[in-house]
Amino acid sequence: MTAIFAQHARLPDGDAALGGTAARWARGVRIEVDAQGNIGAVAENASPRPGDEAVSIVLPGMADLHSHAFQRAMAGLAETAQAAGDDFWSWREWMYRFMARLTPEDLQAIAAQLYLEKLQRGCTAVVEFHYVHHDPQGRPYADPAHMGHRLIAAAQEAGIGLTLAPVLYTYGGFGRAPLQAHQQRFATQVDDVLRMLQSLRPAVDADAGQLALGLAPHSLRAVEAAQIHALLAGVDAAMPMHIHAAEQTREVDACLDVLGCRPVRHLLDAVGLDARWCVVHATHLSAGEVQGLAASGAVAGLCPSTEANLGDGLFPFVEYAAEGGRWGLGGDAHVCRDPFEELRAVEYAQRLARRRRNLAAVQAGAGSSRIGDRLWDAAVAGGAQASGRRIGRLAPGYRADLVVARLADAAADAYDIEDWLNQAVFGGGGVQVAAAMVGGRWQLRDGQHRDAAGIHARYRAALARLIG
Ligand SMILES: [Zn+2]
Repeated sequence: MTAIFAQHARLPDGDAALGGTAARWARGVRIEVDAQGNIGAVAENASPRPGDEAVSIVLPGMADLHSHAFQRAMAGLAETAQAAGDDFWSWREWMYRFMARLTPEDLQAIAAQLYLEKLQRGCTAVVEFHYVHHDPQGRPYADPAHMGHRLIAAAQEAGIGLTLAPVLYTYGGFGRAPLQAHQQRFATQVDDVLRMLQSLRPAVDADAGQLALGLAPHSLRAVEAAQIHALLAGVDAAMPMHIHAAEQTREVDACLDVLGCRPVRHLLDAVGLDARWCVVHATHLSAGEVQGLAASGAVAGLCPSTEANLGDGLFPFVEYAAEGGRWGLGGDAHVCRDPFEELRAVEYAQRLARRRRNLAAVQAGAGSSRIGDRLWDAAVAGGAQASGRRIGRLAPGYRADLVVARLADAAADAYDIEDWLNQAVFGGGGVQVAAAMVGGRWQLRDGQHRDAAGIHARYRAALARLIG
């Protein structure tokens, strides 16, 4: 058994079964970790015992609820003005061309680098929305889940927890439009995706504490409601479901044209959203959709830096939070890998649009009035829910996933612990993650990872090949 003694730890404040997401700082916290990598006991106002690992400030690790790992290698490469103008759709063409050269080895190398970077910034879990299934010619690999197995291998190299959600991608647009040439690597029917789950299941079960499976019908552009019902019928009722929706106004307009309603309205009415669902982006919502999505118990998967990078638009965060809507953070295209920066972006976008300050505090429910607390606690809870794993709470029975962090500020020790998350999100100095424990094992210690040099070298080689 391992035990950690923390001067301060962010403990849950309320009953998870009642849907509470609030947390609070506790002092003198002793956390026992069992042999399976789960938290066995948590005591506060405790005393350290011989053999305990003494640390300063401990937070539950963040889960990144929406990742396309390969896009990490594209970060910063698509920021050149185009004569014809540039938007999400032209970026997507560029992304398809980049992806066309991606090999299984490249995917694993890029994902391992990304997952290590996420650990170094406070994330201990990731949900991979995985759609590049086939070879560059669009032919299935001998094992149809070959690319998915590469993502599992990458997560195990880095030591991060993973929910792997293979994507169903059948059509190239609303109205059963055929796939484009560049989309042939995604081409799947319901049975193909269920077979991928079968192939992945033994590897996931062999590392069940760290790995889980989900499903991801790509979007209403690529999948019809009847197919989603067929997927749901083929898996158990606890499996997390992820879908992109309403990222772009053009997508909303096409949905209105073909289906006669807006995307999230269609998901609410024709699919039926509940707490197993994560609706990624959900950027363009009517007032009725805001209420419906919040009341469904689903998680809105916000990807602040990617949505800003792609010029998607602004999620109605204040209205959604006022309805008690659940949400979490996705790195998506990974132009930012830092959850504290992402949280700042969520709040600042609302301030700029509304010319007001401290808006996340308007959120319904009890808890801290500090914006940093509200943002961090809600995003940890939403990420955990969307992962479909017992993570996100420093409490008995949950995975021992935690980070030891300090403010990167010359006067870090001068701040009251109650202001720690406000400093981390808004103070401007950033956060140093000294250590990260995932499933009871230290994957990062003294800022170091046992295989960092190898992961970086393999990433450099893959990137050089891809952009060469
Ligand atoms: Zn996405």
